[in-house]
Amino acid sequence: MEQRNGWIWMDGEWLPWGDARVHVMTHTLHYGYGCFEGIRAYPTASGPALFRLDDHIRRLRDSARLMALDLDWSADALADACREAVRRNGLTSAYLRPLLFLGAEKAGVDPAGASTHGMIAAWEWGAYLGDGALDNGIRVKTSSFVRASPNAQLFRVKAVAGYANSILACREVRRDGYDEALLLDGDGYVAEGSGENVFIVRDGELIEPDSACALDGITRRTVIALAADMGLTTSRRRLTRDDLYLADEMFFTGTAAEVTPVVELDRRQIGDGRPGPVTRALQARYLACVRGEDRSHPDWLQPA
Ligand code: PMP
Repeated sequence: MEQRNGWIWMDGEWLPWGDARVHVMTHTLHYGYGCFEGIRAYPTASGPALFRLDDHIRRLRDSARLMALDLDWSADALADACREAVRRNGLTSAYLRPLLFLGAEKAGVDPAGASTHGMIAAWEWGAYLGDGALDNGIRVKTSSFVRASPNAQLFRVKAVAGYANSILACREVRRDGYDEALLLDGDGYVAEGSGENVFIVRDGELIEPDSACALDGITRRTVIALAADMGLTTSRRRLTRDDLYLADEMFFTGTAAEVTPVVELDRRQIGDGRPGPVTRALQARYLACVRGEDRSHPDWLQPA
């Protein structure tokens, strides 16, 4: 990712991609204290548009607030920089990565005295879980690594450090030949995927786990709204693996993963082992919305 053409926004300036560098003593590099976002832009009939940009910027600023990071940039400044990242890099379809991190002024766990830095990169990124994942679904395994308790971390934060746990889970199951990991919480209740929220469908009902240690995903919120448009209500309750094994359908949601069907969990077939009709309908509506073909929620798309 280091040598590419393009521009990266860093601390309010636009730098050529290869020049956007940090010092090795960067605090976040050592201790993992920082937060980030993942945003997608899609081609629409009226040009590239960012999906739910304001909601992502809001979550980024909420993350910064929860982590007590001082921000020099307003929500508008960050949103403008995201739009410009798409335009300046000549992208029609993009994944954007805004990151807030602490500088290299000091060592030691306590970050007091370290300055907050911001960067935004944008590049073209295809299906997160590989070619065919959206159409054919993926194979998932429950990881032996669990999400930390809500007393150990903040979970409304998209925190850099949270991803060490996600990486342990993801690598564990990928070594066993699976596509993605499902994480439970310390009590055995379903939390989320390593980078996605999870839903199941049973007897026509859409159900999401009531988990205190899962990210409040923006794709998740979108899917719940689309389900309501389609006359489906979503219930939220604590789920165990029993519920998932008995589900008719299962899918993951995420900005990167979009709406990805899950067809197998822990070597058990979900439903008939193919993406189910509710998953397919929600995925189709989602993809139509992000591409501006479905205009039922016009406020979700913001032009680049
Ligand atoms: N959970 C985790 C751990 C994630 O990394 C993501 C991706 N950001 C999600 C859930 C889904 O969030 P969103 O739909 O906002 O991308």
